[in-house]
Amino acid sequence: MTKPSKPIPRILTVNDAFYLTANMIRVVFKGPELAGIFDGCAGANCKIFLPTKGQSREDFIAQFTDGPPPAKRTYTVRAYRADVQEMDIDFVAHGDEGPASAWAIRAKAGDFLGFAGPSEVKIKDFYADWYLISADMSALPVASAAIEAMPRDAKGVAIFEVISSDDVQKLDIPKGMDVHWLIQGDPHKASTAQEDFIRNMDWPSGVVQTCVAGESGVIKAIRGYFTKDRALPREDVYISGYWKIGLIEDQHQIEKRKDLA
Ligand SMILES: Cc1cc2nc3c(=O)[nH]c(=O)nc-3n(C[C@H](O)[C@H](O)[C@H](O)COP(=O)(O)OP(=O)(O)OC[C@H]3O[C@@H](n4cnc5c(N)ncnc54)[C@H](O)[C@@H]3O)c2cc1C
Repeated sequence: MTKPSKPIPRILTVNDAFYLTANMIRVVFKGPELAGIFDGCAGANCKIFLPTKGQSREDFIAQFTDGPPPAKRTYTVRAYRADVQEMDIDFVAHGDEGPASAWAIRAKAGDFLGFAGPSEVKIKDFYADWYLISADMSALPVASAAIEAMPRDAKGVAIFEVISSDDVQKLDIPKGMDVHWLIQGDPHKASTAQEDFIRNMDWPSGVVQTCVAGESGVIKAIRGYFTKDRALPREDVYISGYWKIGLIEDQHQIEKRKDLA
């Protein structure tokens, strides 16, 4: 009996790629391959499959059936414009060490990658008295999408830890959100800046919903604070490790699964 072949993901084509800020690249995909993706998926995560440098489209597509499978990474849909069949994904440019970052640094119109998803949007209902957003650059896309989706009269605190002052972005933030940009020049060095800020800030009363994501060590510390010190109900909390210093994504995912076991 022949083995059923694995589905081939959508192959998306780059329409534009540019530095949004000093260390963040926006890649705009465009084309009929985006048809059928649900509208309103900004902030949902997706899987991308990376071609190797100089690989032809045919060769890349053949890898899904003939193997070995291409490198796979997790990213966030930053924006999707169904009417013009365009999607933005923002990539932290952290050097050539990872296939996703290296691909984004070289990306230009006509380039391609594989795309699966998107999953469900992380925060769909906004019902809190106040919101706590905390993100490093890898989580700026999910945090920005959550901020854009929240009611315009929302209140709360948003903390963004970025590599340089040239990575500060203009976001459509409700006036009631208190915004803080923290600069941490070397993302490979463990940082307690977000945790310290959260532990030391005045904690408003009432129900809080969170959107917190970024480097795994930072997330572990903040998760501990949420559960042990603040006893936040699970359903109000989105908190997730997006990458880990010194580990490629596949190793990080294995560690995450062990932690949850
Ligand atoms: C749900 C989810 C959504 C995500 N969304 C986004 C997104 O929209 N944009 C985005 O840029 N990232 C996002 N990430 C993080 C991204 O998946 C990881 O950063 C991933 O490791 C990048 O793959 P890579 O091939 O560039 O590097 P890898 O091959 O995975 O890692 C190579 C090396 O680079 C280091 N590294 C990885 N990421 C970073 C980083 N951000 N800064 C500095 N060093 C790093 C690793 O520690 C490792 O040493 C998301 C992760 C998750 C789980």
